[in-house]
Parts: sequence; structure tokens; C-alpha cells
Amino acid sequence: MSKITVIGIGPGNLEDMTQRAIAAMENADIIMGYSTYIELVEKYFHGKEFLSSGMTREIERCRLALQKALEGKSVALISSGDSGIYGMAGIMLEVVNDSESGVPVEVIPGITAANAAAAILGAPLMHDFAVISLSDLMTPLEQIYKRVECAAQGDFVLCLYNPKSKGRSDYIVKARDIVLKYKSPDTPVGIVRNAGRENEAYDIATLANMLDFPIDMFTVVIIGNSKTYIEKGRIITPRGYDLQKRVK
Ligand code: SAH
Repeated sequence: MSKITVIGIGPGNLEDMTQRAIAAMENADIIMGYSTYIELVEKYFHGKEFLSSGMTREIERCRLALQKALEGKSVALISSGDSGIYGMAGIMLEVVNDSESGVPVEVIPGITAANAAAAILGAPLMHDFAVISLSDLMTPLEQIYKRVECAAQGDFVLCLYNPKSKGRSDYIVKARDIVLKYKSPDTPVGIVRNAGRENEAYDIATLANMLDFPIDMFTVVIIGNSKTYIEKGRIITPRGYDLQKRVK
């Protein structure tokens, strides 16, 4: 029996992968994951066995990882960003627990899309923030909207993952309308596409005009709190320091 390492590879570029993630992939016999992420890492890790699969085959992927580990292989199961944030860590632990096999599972953290996007925008996450996925593949839509509503009401900065995809183009419109009940139309909004990957791009918008900018399934949308402002092209959520007072 060998072990399974569940790895967050960061947004996609080698520079944003942790040393620990790189070492774990170097030490693995097999690297497994969704095909897009296998394509991202393949060029860095020669001589490995790569196993890729489609997006909706998570349970099968975890069962295969378990089977390979039981055959004595060391398996690296990769997710983009952090593997514990809408990634593979939870389901892998559940599959191993369910099997009663006792295969050891190590979870290695990665830079999640919200961190990567925030750094591109400036410093929008300096105060309390809530991360919400608009994907209703496994979460009822009413619960998603309720969380958006509560977070907006609580004046959290919001990070929206899975903001849009084919067949779900109106969720972001509805989420924005809910947020507008509690936040000013001038609230800064950062829209980051493909952070740390080819075709990285971002727009700095407001709640009022955010829907005029391209938003797709490789986008994170960050909506500020009531104190967030835009200056010199960067989004800043103040922590609360009094700059004037400190200078005196
Ligand atoms: N485990 C991942 C999230 C997977 S959910 C993480 O921690 O980042 C997939 C969603 O993450 C996408 O719909 C998008 O909203 C966001 N995302 C992932 N990678 C991204 C990137 N490089 N740039 C912008 N958004 C990204």
C-alpha cells in the first residue's frame, strides 16, 4: 500500500505552485486530475504516468486513485488552486474513509483563485470576505442565493467562483441584483480571468456596470465592501489603519 497526496497546484503557473506541491508531484508515480490541469503540469514533470479525466468523473477518479495506491503506487491527485476549495480533497478523503482501506491521504494546500485574483487587483481582501460558488451542480440554487444575500447584508467582500458557464449565464445577473439590495451601485468590482495562466486579463468595474465586462467559467468576481475604493487602478479594502494619524 502506498499513499495518496491531494495537491492544490495554484492558479496554473509554475511560480505560484508551492515547493511542497512540486516536491509531491516529483515524488509521485502517477499524477491524476481533470484534463485541463494535467495539461498545465505535464510539461514540468517528465517520466510520470499521467491519468486525466473529464470534469464530472470525480468519484471514479478518486476510486482509481485508491486502487492505484492499493497496488503500491504513490498517487498525486491534483486540483487547480487549493484542493480543499471546490477541489478533490474532500471527496478523496470520503472515498478512502468509505473503503476502510486505511490508505494515508496527505492534503497539500495551494494558492486559490481568490488569492491569485486579489493580488492582480490590488488588495481587495484585506477585511472579512466570503467565498461563494454560483455552481448549482451540487448545491440548490436557493441556498446559493441565500448565502449571497446574507454575505451582502453582512457587508462582507464577496468572491464569486463559477460565476458563469454555458446554461448558467443568468446566475451572475441574479446574484448582482441581490447584492445591489445592500451595497451601493458604486461598489468596486474586480473581474479576473485566467489568473496566472495564458490569456490572463482583468477589469475593474462597479456593481452598476460589472455585467458589461466578459465573465466566463475561468473568472473570479470580487465585490468590495462598503469601504472598498479604487485608486490608481488598484482596488483597496482598508483594514482600518489611520494613515494621517500614523504620520503625525
Ligand atoms: N480549487 C479551485 C477552484 C475550483 S472551482 C481554487 O482553489 O481556485 C472553479 C472556479 O474557480 C472557476 O469557475 C473560477 O471561478 C475559479 N478559478 C479557478 N482558476 C482560476 C483562474 N486561474 N483564474 C480565475 N478564476 C479561476
